Amino acid sequence: MAELNSVTLESAHFKILEFAYYYYKKNKVGPLYNNIKKHTGYGKEDIDKLFPRGLSSVYSWIGIPIQTLDKGCKPIANIKAANFREVYLDYNATTPIRKEVIEYLKKLLDDKSIFGNPSSGTTIGERAYDLLDEARTQIAATLNAHPSNIIFTSGGTEAINLAIKGLAFRRLEKKGLILSSPIEHHAVLNTLFFLQSLGFEIDFVKIQNDGSLDLNDLENKLKRKPFLCCFMAANNEIGTIYPLKDIGELCSKYNSILFVDAVQAYGKIDLKPIEWKISLMAASGHKIYAPKGIGFLYVSNDQILTPLIHGGEQEFSIRSGTENVLFASALAKAAKLQFNEKEAETLRLNKIKDYFIDKLNKCSIPYTINGSLTNRLPNNLNITFHNVDSGSILLSLNSIGVYVSSGSACSSGSKEISHVIKAIDPDNSNGAIRFSFGLYTTIEDIDYVFEYLPKIINDLKNKEKTYVF
Ligand code: PLP
Repeated sequence: MAELNSVTLESAHFKILEFAYYYYKKNKVGPLYNNIKKHTGYGKEDIDKLFPRGLSSVYSWIGIPIQTLDKGCKPIANIKAANFREVYLDYNATTPIRKEVIEYLKKLLDDKSIFGNPSSGTTIGERAYDLLDEARTQIAATLNAHPSNIIFTSGGTEAINLAIKGLAFRRLEKKGLILSSPIEHHAVLNTLFFLQSLGFEIDFVKIQNDGSLDLNDLENKLKRKPFLCCFMAANNEIGTIYPLKDIGELCSKYNSILFVDAVQAYGKIDLKPIEWKISLMAASGHKIYAPKGIGFLYVSNDQILTPLIHGGEQEFSIRSGTENVLFASALAKAAKLQFNEKEAETLRLNKIKDYFIDKLNKCSIPYTINGSLTNRLPNNLNITFHNVDSGSILLSLNSIGVYVSSGSACSSGSKEISHVIKAIDPDNSNGAIRFSFGLYTTIEDIDYVFEYLPKIINDLKNKEKTYVF
């Protein structure tokens, strides 16, 4: 036995260090947890127990530059794009501010007559108030709601926190049960886990392999009388759409309040909060070509929330703080355009999606589409490429200017598969790539991707082979 930094080294340490050393020598990148597991049998849990700082210690002890961890120590395909261009296919992550909204914002910024405080009784304040009121009215109209049902927030995460905590904090004595699904966004999941730490009970309804909600399980769990149900309208990773009308019926039958995270769905699919018995619904500006840092919460007339931010009692005393009038107005402008163009854009995006799948089939890359193909956001494709690590694909695509998302956290150095992919496909060890299309995506963009994607996949497959010791 040897000692290093007061850790007694056992044969397991040597086995891992030896493998990591040869792996780095050969591949010029450090191994990931899964590489080590594959070749030594020791997985993330063992490595984190054996080494004080997990994979970082393995790297530093044998001199692998730690930057390879920070950059995502994954092999990248050796592909150069002669006709390099930037292709943004990550519209589910965020959208650029659309041209019309930029023009509109410029006009507002230049307008010296509207900078007042909307809470002030002065003429200049009233002008700002009117602009805010107009934005609220326009957004309410997209949901057939009343303007007083719309609370502006700093974005989706804040709207989600306000809805869930705002209700839960009204029952800090009684606590109670909240139902949700395992594939919600972390804005919902982490809010729920926080409430769990305060004594609330959280239970998750089962989902099917395509990410759809098991309505029988929902009904069974509703019999336990949860005071709140939190379900997303559409999933941000796999695009699966939840049947909100049916969920609303069931929740109302069992007297449970329904909160909907509509951050990915607002402006893309039909949402009828009043008809579908949805009490609270969150949306965000930066998913629909408005700026980041603005969103809203729809609150039905019968819900009272405990505010999370106290102060000057703006936003009907639910969310204090001087409102971001310009961004609220930009959000309303973007929403209006989005709703006017929804049908035509849905058709166009579905065509792009079909074109993408057709291209994929023609180049015979083995793949699986995650999520439902029929019940899905028009702009989303989530794909697992068989036997190729999604982090490597992401970095390789990035090197030729194609921007996508991957289910694995490449910056952590470990190959973490996203909770959504894990929930629908527990055996998936490659992660998944999310291609999400939008307003500025063209067929030429997809052609560019397919000029290189097959080469990337083949190159990475060959690399994988050379990594085997
Ligand atoms: N909910 C879903 C489904 C999302 O996709 C996102 C953002 O990706 C959020 C919530 C958080 O929204 P925001 O980024 O506006 O805080």
